[in-house]
Amino acid sequence: MRELYADPYVKDRKGIFEYILGGSTDTKLLDVRVFDDATKKSVYSTQTAKAEKKGESNCPLCTLGHDANKSKRWKLTEIDADHVATWSKGGETNIKNCQMLCKTHNRAK
Ligand SMILES: [Zn+2]
Repeated sequence: MRELYADPYVKDRKGIFEYILGGSTDTKLLDVRVFDDATKKSVYSTQTAKAEKKGESNCPLCTLGHDANKSKRWKLTEIDADHVATWSKGGETNIKNCQMLCKTHNRAK
């Protein structure tokens, strides 16, 4: 429990007690900052399908560049979920606010 309070990913500390009482399964109570795997996979496949059609990278930031990565198709393991609207500024952790960025761009953001 103390770990959860110290966890910077947990935004809503009030929900921690309820979360633990409920068997630590309902992560919505924690208002978590990380996207779940289902969301990631869904966003990844949408982005990748679009990228394939256009012949460009499935990292939206890579498509803006001028190097070889412009048309690179990243694998799911090479790409990370990112909040379109910054989480610390109130951006929600849901599918509408999720984009997949290659690790370089995710880190640079
Ligand atoms: Zn990128």
